Amino acid sequence: MTMKHIFLYGPPGAGKSSVGQVLAERLRWPFVDLDLEIERSAGQAIPQIVEQQGEAGFRNLETETLERAVNESPRVIALGGGALLRHENRMLAENNGKIILLMAEPTTLLERLQSNDRKRPLLAGDLRSRLSALLEMRREHYASFPLRIPVDGKSAQQKARQAQMAAGRHHLSAMGEYDVVMDDVSSLKDFSMENPLIVTDENVAKFHAQPVLDGLSASGLYPKLLTVRAGESYKTLDTVIQLWRGFVEAGLERKSTVIALGGGVIGDLAGFAASTFMRGIDWVGVPTTLLAMVDSSLGGKTGFDLPEGKNLIGSFYPPRFVLIDPHLLETLPGAEFISGMAEVLKYGIISDPELFALCGHGLDWIKANLEEVVQRAVAVKVAIIEEDPYEQGLRASLNLGHTVGHAVELVSHFQLRHGEAVAIGMAAEAKLAERLKVATQGLSEVVAGALSALGLPSEIPRGLPRDELIRAMQMDKKRSKGVVRFALPVEIGRVELLDVTDLESVLEDG
Ligand code: NAD
Ligand code: ZN
Repeated sequence: MTMKHIFLYGPPGAGKSSVGQVLAERLRWPFVDLDLEIERSAGQAIPQIVEQQGEAGFRNLETETLERAVNESPRVIALGGGALLRHENRMLAENNGKIILLMAEPTTLLERLQSNDRKRPLLAGDLRSRLSALLEMRREHYASFPLRIPVDGKSAQQKARQAQMAAGRHHLSAMGEYDVVMDDVSSLKDFSMENPLIVTDENVAKFHAQPVLDGLSASGLYPKLLTVRAGESYKTLDTVIQLWRGFVEAGLERKSTVIALGGGVIGDLAGFAASTFMRGIDWVGVPTTLLAMVDSSLGGKTGFDLPEGKNLIGSFYPPRFVLIDPHLLETLPGAEFISGMAEVLKYGIISDPELFALCGHGLDWIKANLEEVVQRAVAVKVAIIEEDPYEQGLRASLNLGHTVGHAVELVSHFQLRHGEAVAIGMAAEAKLAERLKVATQGLSEVVAGALSALGLPSEIPRGLPRDELIRAMQMDKKRSKGVVRFALPVEIGRVELLDVTDLESVLEDG
């Protein structure tokens, strides 16, 4: 198993240790403060080490300690402020994980250093002038690290969340315990798995099955492959049976692992089949559509459709881990990508104004900066499902655009893609929110503008009869005791749950 640590680096006072501790806790990883580790192994405080052995002697100890640390299991490592000045150390860190630089304004650093009693021999004397000299000297050095997060004015929790986003890692524990990792799909081999079987669909198989098979085989895992027909119309019990029987034929046992390589349909099907096969075997999500990366692979919901309705049968069954590689989206048809962007924009409206703004840069920019966009969207969904794994309250905010959207999907007989229907739903619900004075004036214009910039629809197609849409929403209402709970946007970054009884008013214009 390759070691993938997270290194926190940056000037003294940036909060590497405090952020590191919170980050390690959130990831359920051990935490190492390299300076403390050096002191422990030297049996001496750093000022004494520097005094007796000079800065070079201290740096030698630093290299030795770092070498030891990188050979351990994955951990969060807070580095000293000059630990990577030495080329050898920098290589050690770069080859063994991700380096995240915490950046802060000199005033912030000074404030923290003044309130902190750790002895820093390199800053001895007049703190203010020593610090600015040190920052000046290391300016280019710090600027040479590409993963940087600004930490001014943020709590340790907020900084840790940002670091998580930069590192592309989450640990979920509200329903099952699993990691969500953003990395190259080739890193699949680094996770321990027994007797893996890849479940995919015919479209995904064309592009991505062979590289994944080869990658795993090269590390001695020799997975088997089970390919099913593509598309929602195959999200049926028949396909589930095909999977179960395929599992038997492939010799899967209690400890085997199913790898779901595909979009939401494959994830739902393979996850469900795994949840019931031999009373439940491990499964792993490797999403290949934008929708699956930011939505369906997160949250542990699995299932299939009946002729009577979508997703009627299913189970909560969290995966062992989810591996998200945005590069897999390069082969995704454009319309599927745009449809997935509706959910991304939804997360922006629910709780991430910055993400909403990024979506405004247009599709080309988004495709060029996909990692950041996917990572932010994933972070929103993860935060929500961690708070409310079984959909009792908060998770309902994820329904933004979906109350009207589901009706539009249904009445269009699924001619519209899910994301397109949700886009229309978000636009209609933003208008409703304005009419009800829940939202700030002009919000619906802003939402509609963002949708059309992404190539998404924002108007209910003329051909769809209003009365049928209302009837479709009423069916929802019957199921939930007379009211329909809407997630309505208040402003970009905030939604409010509101029960609406008068559904006639929902689709009014203006
Ligand atoms: P999908 O799985 O049908 O994929 C869409 C199309 O893209 C398919 O034709 C597929 O073969 C193709 N494809 C997938 N990845 C590709 C790639 N990288 N390159 C080329 N082609 C590729 O649909 P989807 O939009 O990913 O998922 C929709 C499903 O997800 C629905 O069934 C919905 O109910 C479910 N869903 C589940 C959850 C959940 O929490 N479990 C949440 C939202 C949606
Ligand atoms: Zn959706």
